Amino acid sequence: MKTELEFLGTGTSLGVPVPGCRCRVCRSPDPRDKRLRASVLVTRGRRRLIIDTGPEFRLQCLRAGVNRLDAALLTHHHADHLNGLDDVRAYSCFRDRTLPVWGPADALRFIRERFNYIWRPIQIGGGLPEIELRPAEGRFRAIGLEITPIPIMHGKMPILGYRLGDLAYLTDISSLPAESRPLLAGLETLVLSCVRCRSHPTHLSIAGVKRLAREIRPRRTLLTHLTHHFFHRDLLLGLSRFDIFPAFDGMRVEMDCG
Ligand SMILES: [Zn+2]
Ligand SMILES: [Zn+2]
Ligand SMILES: [Zn+2]
Repeated sequence: MKTELEFLGTGTSLGVPVPGCRCRVCRSPDPRDKRLRASVLVTRGRRRLIIDTGPEFRLQCLRAGVNRLDAALLTHHHADHLNGLDDVRAYSCFRDRTLPVWGPADALRFIRERFNYIWRPIQIGGGLPEIELRPAEGRFRAIGLEITPIPIMHGKMPILGYRLGDLAYLTDISSLPAESRPLLAGLETLVLSCVRCRSHPTHLSIAGVKRLAREIRPRRTLLTHLTHHFFHRDLLLGLSRFDIFPAFDGMRVEMDCG
C-alpha cells in the first residue's frame, strides 16, 4: 500500500520568518524559506498519523487538508513540538475512540502536567482532547505500520526519533547513541534536524549532519528544523552533492513500508 510522508513544517522553534526579524532569509520571497514549526504527516490509505503537534498544528492540518487523524507520535515535550496538542480534539470528537498518543515516558509526564485539565472533571461543554497516552518503548503498530522508536540525544536529554519502513525521522538530534545505530540500517530516507553552520549544544550543525549521514549511509538525507540562518536555495546548491537536501513545508516523500 502506498505510504507517503508530508512535511507540515520544517522550521526551528521560532519558525521562519521570525517575528520582528528583518534579516534576508526572513524577508525572502521564496516560499520554501517560509517554515512552520517542525512536524510531519504520514498517510497510508485513508489513515493518517502525525509526528509532533506543535503550536501550528491546526493551521498545518488545514493547509494539508487533514480530514482524519488516527495516531500522534511525539518526539519530546518542547513547546515547539507539543503545544498544539489541545487542537487534536477537532479529530478526536468525530471519532468513536480516543486518539492514541505515543511518546517518550518523560514527554507523557509533561503532558499530564501541562495539559492537566484534560483529566480533571470540568463543567460540560468545554470540549477536551480525547487522548490515550502510550509510552513508546520498543516497536509498536499504528495505522497498519510497524514503528520503531529510535533513542537519540537532544543535548543532555534523551528523546525519540521514529523509523517507519525505509524512512527515519530524527528531529532535535545532537548525537546518536551507539545502541541506536543498528536500528537505522538500510534506510532510503533519513530526516535530520539542522539549525546552523556552527556547532550547537542541543542540535546538529551542517558538519554534524554530514558526519552522521556518512555513518548511517541512507540513500538521501533531508533537513528539517531549519532556522533563518539558511536560504533553501543555498542549502540545495551546497549539499546536494552529498545527497543531502533541505526539506520544505509541503514537501512529500514516498516511503516503502512493505
Ligand atoms: Zn525543536
Ligand atoms: Zn531572520
Ligand atoms: Zn527540542
